Amino acid sequence: MGQDPLSPPLVVRYAEADVPTEYGSVRTVVYRVGAVDPPEEHVALVVGEPAAGDEPVLARVHSECWTGEVMRSRKCDCRDQLDQAMRAVAEAGRGVVVYLRQEGRGIGLGNKVRAYALQQEGADTVDANRILGFADDARRYDVAAAILRDLGVARVSLMTNNPSKVRGLVEAGIEVTERRALHAEPNEHNAEYLAVKVRRMGHKA
Ligand SMILES: [Zn+2]
Repeated sequence: MGQDPLSPPLVVRYAEADVPTEYGSVRTVVYRVGAVDPPEEHVALVVGEPAAGDEPVLARVHSECWTGEVMRSRKCDCRDQLDQAMRAVAEAGRGVVVYLRQEGRGIGLGNKVRAYALQQEGADTVDANRILGFADDARRYDVAAAILRDLGVARVSLMTNNPSKVRGLVEAGIEVTERRALHAEPNEHNAEYLAVKVRRMGHKA
């Protein structure tokens, strides 16, 4: 399923710079989607030259988690997964982490915190989203695929525990040669969340 040659590209490369990080220098490429205002922006964190060579590119498609990554919430494993992915691409010297700014599986920060309030009342992560009227997982992988294609990446070794992420990328035209698991450390706050992802959302343990 390629992009219709007559339709405008899904993403536009808007800005890029090398940023020194604890993982080393990371080329930070910001993409904009469509002509909406304020613009929807997503980021590719690039190490090395992913377009060079025939080897599949080590990649992760990561959805923003403000509560986990900034607040260091212990309700989920997102920050840990992002950290593992960045370390892996830094170690490999070549890879891409596509960081999609779609908080809370695409429902937004406010609705995510509303879902947390329902979870305080005893709902699990899937039921909480359903009570609020959202699909289990409202994320878009077509944008991630368009960003990878823009970077010259057609084949990836994907770091994820989520088989539907693999399917989403494949349907969007990216070849996934391999799925690499990420391992979260359970704690007393996220153990049930991690279990629900396996039991109800088809994630691999
Ligand atoms: Zn999270």
